[in-house]
Amino acid sequence: MSDSIPATETTSDGKIRCDACPVMCYIKPGASGACDRYANDNGELIRVDPHVVLDRALAHGAAVVPFHRDGSWDGKLIASPETFVTAIGAGTTYPDYKPAPFIVSSEVNGVDMVTVVTEGIFSYCGVKVKIDTDRFLGPEQATVRAAGEAVGHVTTSEYGSQMLSLGGVHHLTGGSKKEGRITCEALLDLCNGKPVELTIDGGSTVVVQAGQAPIVNGVKEERMRVGCGSATIGMFAKQWLGLVDDVVVVDDHITGVLSEHQAGKVLGIPDTGIKIKGRRSTPGRYFQVAEPGTGWGGTNISDPLSILGPFDRKVAWPGLRLYFISTTGEHAAYFELDDELIPREKDMPADLAMLSQRVKDNCEPALSTVLFMAGAGGSLRAGVTENPVRLTNSVKDALTYVTCGGAPVYVYPGGGITIMVDVTKMPENAFGYVPTPALVAPIEFTLRLSDYQELGGHMAEVRPVSSITLDDGRRPVAPHADNPWPLAPNSVKRYFG
Ligand code: SF4
Repeated sequence: MSDSIPATETTSDGKIRCDACPVMCYIKPGASGACDRYANDNGELIRVDPHVVLDRALAHGAAVVPFHRDGSWDGKLIASPETFVTAIGAGTTYPDYKPAPFIVSSEVNGVDMVTVVTEGIFSYCGVKVKIDTDRFLGPEQATVRAAGEAVGHVTTSEYGSQMLSLGGVHHLTGGSKKEGRITCEALLDLCNGKPVELTIDGGSTVVVQAGQAPIVNGVKEERMRVGCGSATIGMFAKQWLGLVDDVVVVDDHITGVLSEHQAGKVLGIPDTGIKIKGRRSTPGRYFQVAEPGTGWGGTNISDPLSILGPFDRKVAWPGLRLYFISTTGEHAAYFELDDELIPREKDMPADLAMLSQRVKDNCEPALSTVLFMAGAGGSLRAGVTENPVRLTNSVKDALTYVTCGGAPVYVYPGGGITIMVDVTKMPENAFGYVPTPALVAPIEFTLRLSDYQELGGHMAEVRPVSSITLDDGRRPVAPHADNPWPLAPNSVKRYFG
C-alpha cells in the first residue's frame, strides 16, 4: 500500500468514506471498498496496491534494496533520472477538482522536467483485439459476448488477423447493469493479461490473452498465414516450378491459381484447363470460393476438390500434377489427373512436402494483441492543469509526452487526448476498476517544467522526485526492455525539442 489519503468523512462506527470515485463507499475498519483498491486502515484511507516506480537500475542488474519483513522498502530515496514515477497505484483526481496525486519534478540533462501522474477512471475506454488467425471467428459487426453478455463486436479483418472492438461507453453504461459489469470484468482481465473466453454470434468461441496464441473453438492457433492466396503464389511460384503443373492456394479471401496468375505467366507455366468455383477477380485470383470457416485457408472446406469444376478436356491432360496448399501450410494435398481427367490423390512427393513445410516455416507465430484505448477527459485533465484544453493542445503540439505505466502510447490525431497502448508493454496488473463501472488505468504526462507552468499547471503541488521514498509500499520494477525510457534524452529531444 502507498500513502494514506485523508478521509472526507468518518461515521460514529468508524467507517470512513472514500471519495476516489462516484461510488463513495463507506468502508469499515480493516475492510476495503467495492473496488478493492482503497481500504480503511485504522481510520485512514489507504490505496491498497503498491505504487509502482520504474527503476532503470533493476534493468541493468544493479543490487536491489531488499524488502523488510513487513514488506516495506528501506526508505531508499528515488534517484533522478534513473527512476520514473508511474501512475500505477498512485490514486486518482476524483472528484475532479483535485490536482493529480503526484506532480514530480526532476532534472534531465540540465532540463527541468515534470511528470504528472494519476490513475484515470475511464468510462470511455475499450480494447482493440487483434487475433492472428484465418479461421472464421464470426461475421463483421457480429456481437461478441463474455459470459453471455454483449461486450463488443467483430470489426474488419486485417492481413492474416481478425479484429474485435470490445468495451466502449455503450457497453459499459448503455446496456443493463449486468452488461456493464461483465464488460468491465472482461476488459480488466484482458488488460491485466488474463485469458478471457469470448463467443461470437454466428461464429466461434475464442480464448484471448494478450501476447499468447488465440484458442479458436478449443484449438490453439499455431501460425498466422504467410500471405493471401495470391501473395503465396507470388512468393513460392519459382520454387514450385517443374515440380507440379498447377497449384491452388486455398484462402477465404483470395484463392490463388498458379497457371492463371501473373507469376505463372511470367514463369511460362502453360494453361491446365483448371476451373475454380468462385468469383474471378483478376487472372489467377478468386474471391468467395467457399464459405468462411475453420477448414482450409479460413474457409469451411475440408476437401480441396470441392472448389474445383471439371477440367477443360481440350486443355488438361492425364497425369497432370496438381498441388493444393492453404495459406498457413497447415493443409496440403497432391493429386494427379487420371485418364478421365479426374483428380486422384497421391502420396506427396518429398520435394513438394519440403516446400509445404517451407510455407509453414514462413508463417509467424499466431498471437493475440490487446490494445487499451481510452479518452482522457475532463476530470483527468483538470488534475493536471486548471486550463484543461491547454493540456490537450500541449499533447497535440508534442510538448507533452504521454505514457501509461511508463509505456509509450499512440495519441490519435484530431480532438481530445485519445490514446492507445499495448498492454503487454505495461507493468503487470496495471489496471483496476471501479463499479460505476469504469476501468482505472495509469496515465502520466511528462513535460518541461516551464511548459507546465505556462499551461496553468498546479505549480504549488510540484515536488522534487528526491522527496519521494521507496517506503510507504512503493514498488520499484524494471522498465520493459522494448520501451523508450520516458525521461531519456532522446525522448526529451523527440518530444520537447
Ligand atoms: S469503489 Fe470508488 S469509492 Fe469505493 S473504494 Fe473504490 S474508489 Fe473508493
